[in-house]
Amino acid sequence: MRTVHRTFTLAAALAALSCGGTGQDTSTSTTSEALDAQSSHEPPMLGIHWARGEAGGQASTSPLMTWHGGAILTTTAVQAIFWGTSWSSASFVGDKIGGIDTFYGGIGGSSYAGTNTEYDGTNGLVTTAVSYGGSQVDSSPAPRQAPKTSTILNEVCARISNPVANGFYPVYVDTPRGHTRYCAWHSYGTCNGVPVQFGFFFHLDGDPGCDPQDTSGLHSQGLAALANVSGHEFSETMTDPRNGGWYDSSGSENADKCAWTFGAPLLTFSDGTQWKVQGNWSNAAYSAGTGYPNGAGQDGCIGTK
Ligand SMILES: [Zn+2]
Repeated sequence: MRTVHRTFTLAAALAALSCGGTGQDTSTSTTSEALDAQSSHEPPMLGIHWARGEAGGQASTSPLMTWHGGAILTTTAVQAIFWGTSWSSASFVGDKIGGIDTFYGGIGGSSYAGTNTEYDGTNGLVTTAVSYGGSQVDSSPAPRQAPKTSTILNEVCARISNPVANGFYPVYVDTPRGHTRYCAWHSYGTCNGVPVQFGFFFHLDGDPGCDPQDTSGLHSQGLAALANVSGHEFSETMTDPRNGGWYDSSGSENADKCAWTFGAPLLTFSDGTQWKVQGNWSNAAYSAGTGYPNGAGQDGCIGTK
């Protein structure tokens, strides 16, 4: 079933890449990139966070997620990378780097992180323990179109000097998504033999398709958008870090199943900061009928405080 989803995902990515993006690359090169992405050596895109209204990762005829025989992350150590020439511009950065630092600094121990803790794997249960090692800027040019997963893995391996097996390394580029149909994804690989998990995030300033519509006034629109998709990919990395964790028969992971549905206008992290982040799927809440509805009307989403 996962293979079916993977095929769909790659087909969607092909469609997205071939629509022209920001117009800075030829369709020939984007097509060859997408075909490259199908090679068996390319890490898979997992938990693609589709933009609002895009097909994929939504309704499933089989609501419950199942375990796929592998490990989860019991804890994680996060270091963020901001990649692209614009990240050296104060006007471009605005509140985004400081805000993302605050986001990961406060997510550990939060009720939101607790939405992942019913899931287990060969190595135990997911917990809310997160250590944040801060962020760095790589002001070299980032990919100007949707990148291959291996491109982001290579960046992680080049920039993280001390990778750890429970590491999650989100990479934020300064590239807008253009016509690409997703906002973000997560994947996994190895750096010098050390297993690592990583995420990829487009630049989302002024992008209504990836905007949680946070009206709190606490953050810029661009930061609020990055925070919401960061929560999504963080949660999926905890519960399905290397494709052996939890997803449903359509391949949807816990954040996919509740994409673009919010249990509350703001969630409060352990340091008191507040963020508008979508909830996550809970098999337990769905079975008990205590969750809030996802986009398909299934009452299995949690994450309300
Ligand atoms: Zn996802």
